[in-house]
Amino acid sequence: MNPVTRAVCPGSFDPITNGHLDIIERTAGLFPEVIVGVLENPGKKPVFTLGERVELIGKAVSHLPNVQVHCFRGLLVDFVSKVKGNLIVKGLRAISDFEIELQMSLSNKKMAPEIETMFMMTKNEYSFLSSSMVKEIAQFGGDIRDLVPIEVATALKKKFSTNGER
Ligand code: ADP
Repeated sequence: MNPVTRAVCPGSFDPITNGHLDIIERTAGLFPEVIVGVLENPGKKPVFTLGERVELIGKAVSHLPNVQVHCFRGLLVDFVSKVKGNLIVKGLRAISDFEIELQMSLSNKKMAPEIETMFMMTKNEYSFLSSSMVKEIAQFGGDIRDLVPIEVATALKKKFSTNGER
């Protein structure tokens, strides 16, 4: 394998949480360049538009000079090739993540053998954290300030106060 020059951290990030951010920060400390790939998944109905998700991630990673944010649709391996990346980095929380991630990484390896996938264990305090849990807490007015970047907490509050029926 060639040395890793550009690592890709993919996800839907609806919205980015402190768990995602921890994985992105640690990846940025290990490799010269990191691209956060925000998936436009037409099958899912996200709370935040693609543009909003990209903007919120951009603010959350503004202290990391070697991180860029892009969006993509279609196959992850096609996106990684397009941005000339050679590594996918994903976070793992629990055994339930492992099963789906193993399946995805083996499919990606089959389609693009030149691209490696690496997994990073979540930080202990974020092992329970997911975008959907954050949305559920925010929807019912719970405190999410320790779970997401400040811009996300503000955006979620706004979203659910103007759109209470979600
Ligand atoms: P989710 O799985 O919450 O819908 P994404 O599709 O945006 O989120 O996930 C993108 C990547 O981030 C996946 O590899 C996922 O395992 C990882 N991830 C999500 N939440 C955490 C967390 N709390 N700690 C570590 N990794 C995480």
